[in-house]
Amino acid sequence: MAIVCVGSIALDTVKTPFGKVREKLGGSATYFSVAASFFAPVSVVAVIGSDLKDAKLAPLKARGIDLRGIERRKGKTFRWSGEYSYDLNVRETIETHLNVFEEFDPVIREELRGFPFVFLGNIDPDLQHRILDQMISPRLVVTDTMNYWISGKRDSLIKLLSRVDILVINDAEARELSGEYNLLASARWIIDRGPQTVIIKKGEHGALMFRGRSFFSAPGFPLDAVFDPTGAGDSFAGGFVGYLAKTEDLSEDNLRRAVIYGSTLASFTVEEFGVDKLLELATDDIEARVRNFRELTHFDL
Ligand code: AMP
Repeated sequence: MAIVCVGSIALDTVKTPFGKVREKLGGSATYFSVAASFFAPVSVVAVIGSDLKDAKLAPLKARGIDLRGIERRKGKTFRWSGEYSYDLNVRETIETHLNVFEEFDPVIREELRGFPFVFLGNIDPDLQHRILDQMISPRLVVTDTMNYWISGKRDSLIKLLSRVDILVINDAEARELSGEYNLLASARWIIDRGPQTVIIKKGEHGALMFRGRSFFSAPGFPLDAVFDPTGAGDSFAGGFVGYLAKTEDLSEDNLRRAVIYGSTLASFTVEEFGVDKLLELATDDIEARVRNFRELTHFDL
């Protein structure tokens, strides 16, 4: 089943203890769409400026991602820069320049409005609302957000929660949004405001899925080297939603499998800057790591 993904397309400048890149293709829609494209057809809705060369998006096109919903506007592409210390779970945003995003008012083309799977990537919650206004009874709405919007557009974000099925968020953001330090209490606070399911990502420590009274914990995949954590969250969401769209099964058991696929895609992303690692993957690489994941948590009683 097909997925509509709305989010940022960015030029990212990132510094980690292991290197630095300038104006690398990033953004929530980029990471999400590449990860999800291993499982299901993806159409991207986003905005870029006149400064982003078509060649930068060529690798996405080559993966069969539908880019017709990307609007090119006069002005500069969204830019973000961030820096990590040796504790790669902690990131400092240095600069956020919304640029063409400030005036973006997405119109979803007719053909996409009935798509069953909707991913609202990390963008202004007002835009996320306007996307949902245009969709016709989607089967599953998954959304992500970030500290920038939690502090800047809190009311709009809280209203959005009543319109989504699954919120994917990291641990620090869940605490900031809910005002609860304890993650279980944070998840309950969020569930009380709408989503049936909340997934809290904990960087290299894995992810927790909360649904009603049940929860599921996936470890972080142990990697020899983590190079750049940027985009791990969006790649997680891409693997997660992509797997659900492919299997068309929203049962608890399948959501658990989807968390493992999401974690797998995220684990590949962090091995290189940008989407470079994802772009060189084959489906067999993904399946092999999913099997390794299963072994990692298997034990007999
Ligand atoms: P993640 O590491 O998965 O949380 O996502 C990192 C991506 O989010 C980067 O590629 C950034 O370009 C993008 N990003 C950072 N800040 C924002 C923002 N305020 N709105 C939309 N996208 C953002």
